Amino acid sequence: GGAARLYRAGEDAVWVLDSGSVRGATANSSAAWLVQFYSSWCGHCIGYAPTWRALAADVRGPYPLALWRCSASAAAGLHPGFIPRMTPPAPVEIWEVGCQVRMTGTPLPPPPSLSWGHRGLPRLSSPPDPLVESLKASATTSAPGLYPSCVLTFISSSVTPPGCLESRFFEAPVPVPGCFPYWAAAIRVAALDCAEEKNQEVCRAYDIHFYPTFRYFKAFTKDFTTGENFKGPDRELQTVRRTMINFLQNHTDGNRPPACPSLDPIRPSDVLSLIDKRGDRYVAVLLEDDSSYVGREVILDLIPYESIEVRRALGSDTAFLQKLGVPSLPSCYLIYPNGSHGPVTVGKPLRSFFSSYLRSLPGVRKKPGSLPGRPSRDESSEAVVWRDFDRSKLYTADLESGLHHLLRVELAAHRSLAGAELKTLKDFITVLAKLFPGRPPVRKLLEMLQEWLASLPLDRIPYDAVLDLVNNKMRISGIFLTNHIKWVGCQGSRPELRGYSCSLWKLFHTLTVGAGTHPKALDGTGLEDDPQAVLQTIRRYVHVFFGCKECGEHFEEMAKESIDSVKTPDQAILWLWKKHNLVNSRLAGHPSEDPKFPKVPWPSPDLCPACHEEIKGLGTWNEGQVLLFLKQHYGRDNLVDTHSA
Ligand code: FAD
Repeated sequence: GGAARLYRAGEDAVWVLDSGSVRGATANSSAAWLVQFYSSWCGHCIGYAPTWRALAADVRGPYPLALWRCSASAAAGLHPGFIPRMTPPAPVEIWEVGCQVRMTGTPLPPPPSLSWGHRGLPRLSSPPDPLVESLKASATTSAPGLYPSCVLTFISSSVTPPGCLESRFFEAPVPVPGCFPYWAAAIRVAALDCAEEKNQEVCRAYDIHFYPTFRYFKAFTKDFTTGENFKGPDRELQTVRRTMINFLQNHTDGNRPPACPSLDPIRPSDVLSLIDKRGDRYVAVLLEDDSSYVGREVILDLIPYESIEVRRALGSDTAFLQKLGVPSLPSCYLIYPNGSHGPVTVGKPLRSFFSSYLRSLPGVRKKPGSLPGRPSRDESSEAVVWRDFDRSKLYTADLESGLHHLLRVELAAHRSLAGAELKTLKDFITVLAKLFPGRPPVRKLLEMLQEWLASLPLDRIPYDAVLDLVNNKMRISGIFLTNHIKWVGCQGSRPELRGYSCSLWKLFHTLTVGAGTHPKALDGTGLEDDPQAVLQTIRRYVHVFFGCKECGEHFEEMAKESIDSVKTPDQAILWLWKKHNLVNSRLAGHPSEDPKFPKVPWPSPDLCPACHEEIKGLGTWNEGQVLLFLKQHYGRDNLVDTHSA
């Protein structure tokens, strides 16, 4: 339960993979794959999701944005001047709008020929476009009359894709079968959620330690591979798209996806010889300079279309360009089936203009039934039940669910541990064993785990041995940790919000508070004399194991800056509180912020009135009171077992 998904099969253009499908999809596939291994609780993954969706949509689109089914009375709208209006489910940036009309039923009088603006619509867009909130279409018919029903399809490729949606007059949008992918025959954009327990094995097999991790898989790979890392300096949509193109181009001929046309440039002499040939289809040549990706993008955009071939040539030779009559780069030179030829004029020399122009040439059509549709909708998503809770309490269920995820998913991403990683694990388990405030069986489990780790003579341990101990050996003696997730104080208003990272913060605070209130707890562990011991252990855990890599890096920066100022266990409590508030203020307004749990300085005045003071009209913290409050809030006595397994 509690599985949070950032991408939904059937709604997003992203291919949603899981433990059951990832190998089958990427092995010996006729298309290459770009897979994002993410974790649904990772704030950076949440923040990145819109870009990923947009990328997937960009290389798959356009989609019918909506099908409009006019009711009988609305069909009267087909009289000249009728303006249907639709509201997209989300603001969309329209690159191209086309419109098709299908009549069903028996029209009275016979089906008219409809004339539309630019293939249907008054051109309401020319890239780059503003976000539009509603689209208008006006239709004129040569034969006004009443038609029992008609379907109006808007085609758009949008940066914030609504996916394939059908909106029946004012009803909720539903996915339309038969969305057609563009580049998907050559390369597919996918995502796999490593936070889902069923995927944990597979993320381990792919050696995923941090999220998000991007991997490319070439077409036709026979043996299992963990893929090639994408290590871009940035993960902007355009950078990733270009890397996808480079990746496709790097396929050797033997394993190039069959649907992918050649992306290499042809020579000027080849262009000239093409001109002399006449054929049964159009040949478009994108002339561009070395650094341009437009040609390759247009080639890929046109994959699903027949009766046209797109090539690219580098236009460094001015004499050659003059001969073709091409004034500037990039340009498109078109050879018609009847042999005539010349440069084409588009509004702006951009990918979307070229692609749209070529797709709308007379005779250029989509290949029939060419490609697999989007994966089917995932029906297994569970409805989440909201549990009421008290914000002034700490819930066992949160701490234990977090511990379960930490031990069985986050750490289990590592096949084996040695050196500094192993030392970090041992210290962290020691701190937990001594300071975890939860229920006796869980504390017992942590103690046994600590003793077992301490007794091991090995300098490398396979993590499976830890799992075996936690899952099987201890269970026999009745010592076990919940093996499912139930968030209470860490519930999010959407499944991808809060959860694990919330529980981890809470766990960390209970540890610093534990060390501050039980000064003897760490005696005999080797950590007893260091007031920073707990903080430093947390710091190393976050740096080495916390799956959100950027979070770990930010935290490390804060630690480097000021952790040395901590001289007492109480100062350690306050240090973590301050840094947590810094993170809160940095994340205010971030997409991972839960609107129900805004990122504000904590504790709020209603939670701890004494913590807040005003000095000369300016709000400040009373740190003495904050310390008392933290000790109470994160202390054992504030822990409640309601909702615990
Ligand atoms: P959280 O911030 O997770 O807090 C959980 C609970 O702790 C709150 O509900 C409240 O009860 C209590 N609390 C809040 N503030 C304090 C405080 N100052 N002191 C004590 N208790 C408090 N996400 C990113 O996107 N980028 C990052 O760089 C990043 N860094 C992170 C670093 C660490 C070490 C951790 C554990 C998480 C990090 N996250 C980061 C995740 C992010 O901080 C939140 O955990 C996540 O957005 C969920 O927020 P939340 O609303 O549940 O509150």
